[in-house]
Amino acid sequence: MEKKEFVCIGCPLGCNVAVETEGKDIKSITGNTCPRGADYVTKELTDPRRIVTSLVRVKGGELPVVSVKTVADIPRDKIGECVKALKEIVLQAPVCIGDVVVENVCGTGVNVIATKNVEKV
Ligand code: SF4
Repeated sequence: MEKKEFVCIGCPLGCNVAVETEGKDIKSITGNTCPRGADYVTKELTDPRRIVTSLVRVKGGELPVVSVKTVADIPRDKIGECVKALKEIVLQAPVCIGDVVVENVCGTGVNVIATKNVEKV
């Protein structure tokens, strides 16, 4: 039996959640105040995912970069590839909040969108 500890990021309470596993089987989850904590650690153990935030270069705009983020979480092992792909992109101003910067980033089925406006100069 292996024991792992997590801090749930589901809300500011930050519960310490302990999980006992045997191989790939989860035997017990304790310490979570609500079911979201159990969902969080189960996902962390079986399919860890993260929202990715980054910056993308912009040409001809009032700012040289725009902040972007994935519209949903993507597999943790795709984060490096995603960040690398975003480094290759140069957008043309204007850029509006919600503009799709990359569709289906790295085959994850998730789009990357702009989270800031950059006006044309
Ligand atoms: S287990 Fe529930 S109450 Fe505790 S941090 Fe996670 S979401 Fe918040």
